[in-house]
Amino acid sequence: MVNYTYRDIIQSLSEKLTEAGISNAYWEARELAGAALGFNCRGKFDAKTQADTEQIKLCANLLARRLMGEPLQYIIGKWDFCGESFKVGSGVLIPRADTETLIECACSLLGGEKELTVIDLCSGSGCIGITLEKKLDCKEVWCVEKSEAAMYFLKENATRLNSACKPLLGDVTDESLPEKLPLADLIISNPPYISAADMKKLQKEVTFEPVEALFGGEDGCDFYREIVRLWKSRLKPEGIMMFEIGAGQEDEVMQIMIQAGMHDVRARRDMAGINRCVYGRNSVQKNEAVNLYDQLDKAERNLH
Ligand code: GLN
Repeated sequence: MVNYTYRDIIQSLSEKLTEAGISNAYWEARELAGAALGFNCRGKFDAKTQADTEQIKLCANLLARRLMGEPLQYIIGKWDFCGESFKVGSGVLIPRADTETLIECACSLLGGEKELTVIDLCSGSGCIGITLEKKLDCKEVWCVEKSEAAMYFLKENATRLNSACKPLLGDVTDESLPEKLPLADLIISNPPYISAADMKKLQKEVTFEPVEALFGGEDGCDFYREIVRLWKSRLKPEGIMMFEIGAGQEDEVMQIMIQAGMHDVRARRDMAGINRCVYGRNSVQKNEAVNLYDQLDKAERNLH
């Protein structure tokens, strides 16, 4: 019987991935081998260790899945976001580096403030809410997600990362949901935003991700319209609403916010120079409104 070392396996996986036209083939090969052989491919491992037959079979199995187009992240079952590892798998959107733009933006706007209330809508894996709960001084962070499959990962991530965030199974377009949550300093969301035309041109890997986490209606902007309409009243005076957007959606999304009466509406670019984040502030005048809002909030919360 042929003996394969970890090095041989990585080499062989890398060749197969290269033949399939996968970029970063060597790096992916290490990740796959690490998952199959149970070593941390980013740390030190002994490349001369012999793999046993079961391990070799498992490698072949993971390679076959990858060659079918399944995303590497689903196969290895986790992915990094803002320096933490999030559990992912079929049924949940994979955290993207682009989304880290929202975290930076939220932290630069709210970094000095205390006891924040944050609502993360369309939470998916929980990467936004859980990260903000760690980085900001938060009184409470609500993570709203409608898919039960995604909710499984959200709860797992909250537990694994020791987060006090509050997962809530619910549809952000449900008219009765906003009033069940407290007034927030920040409502943040990476909603589905891919247009009907772009859904036809998805990269193979993305087609493995849940459609309901991707498709944002004909022009991709349905969720921005619905969230602004339904959730603006859940912002404290001067509270911030912040969205991740798709390339080229900034004008439409900024218009939606401006027309809803929000002010200081701005866009922020991601590392690739694409406007990725749009945010604005609630327009209610602070002085007259604070008491009224507090009273309404208390009254509503007493009802539930
Ligand atoms: N960023 C994802 C993609 O383009 C889309 C995520 C979303 O719709 N929120 O694949």
